Amino acid sequence: MNDAPLYDAHCHWHDPRLTPHREKIERDLAQLPLGKVVVNGTHPGDWPAVAALAESDPRVIPAFGLHPWQVNAAPPDWLAQLEDFLARFPRAVIGEAGLDRWIKDHDLPRQLDALHAQLALAERDNRAISLHCLQAWGPMLEALKNGPRPARGFHLHGYGGSPEMIREFADLGGYFSFSAYVMHERKAKHRESLRATPPDRLLLETDAPDMLPPEPWQTHSLPGKVPFSHAPNGEPPHHPANIAASYAAATSILNGDPATIRSQVAENFTRLFGES
Ligand SMILES: [Zn+2]
Repeated sequence: MNDAPLYDAHCHWHDPRLTPHREKIERDLAQLPLGKVVVNGTHPGDWPAVAALAESDPRVIPAFGLHPWQVNAAPPDWLAQLEDFLARFPRAVIGEAGLDRWIKDHDLPRQLDALHAQLALAERDNRAISLHCLQAWGPMLEALKNGPRPARGFHLHGYGGSPEMIREFADLGGYFSFSAYVMHERKAKHRESLRATPPDRLLLETDAPDMLPPEPWQTHSLPGKVPFSHAPNGEPPHHPANIAASYAAATSILNGDPATIRSQVAENFTRLFGES
């Protein structure tokens, strides 16, 4: 039996920070048994780039959504624009949506309104929704409990809530994803959450070009140095091929069998996002 392909449940391949490196990224990705990737837009301005990528690359499942960091600057007709993109892509995911009380000048009531509107569309079409959450786990649980929410389930990406809350989110239909970023020493709680995730709700992601993992996890299973040096802010972007490192990290944290984890994640990804 061949091992299942790798699936990236949450990334931003269309991000301009990756554009100058496109050729190298493609060469590195070609060395991986990559299945599908969910590419998340964050505001109406980047949805066309996500759409273009989905139209040209069969690996890409597009996701269109309004990120909590973008809520204050969104044009008044963002929801109508979102509906247009969803109509064009019947199999698209909604995301990245969510709540964030970590960002400066956050407006939680406005974020909740935007989240509610996107959850309502997800429920209406029974589409998966990819959710970001920072320092707002109580309000997130409340919003999902009170609905609306899609019958097929929802995705808490880069899960950073408490391990104890996992059961409550899972009972509402939650899936949880992690990246090799959790191998940073200070991320012990995230590693505990990964261990607390029900096996049938586990997903893996890169969030590339964000969430760069610590150095030993940046080159895993790939020849040569993968990440790019000389980024303007000193931190290189997270390479999409590091999805292999996310799998290696999960295997190490769970002390599990790599082939079993691959087939479990493949099954979970397909059940939630609807494509294999
Ligand atoms: Zn993201």
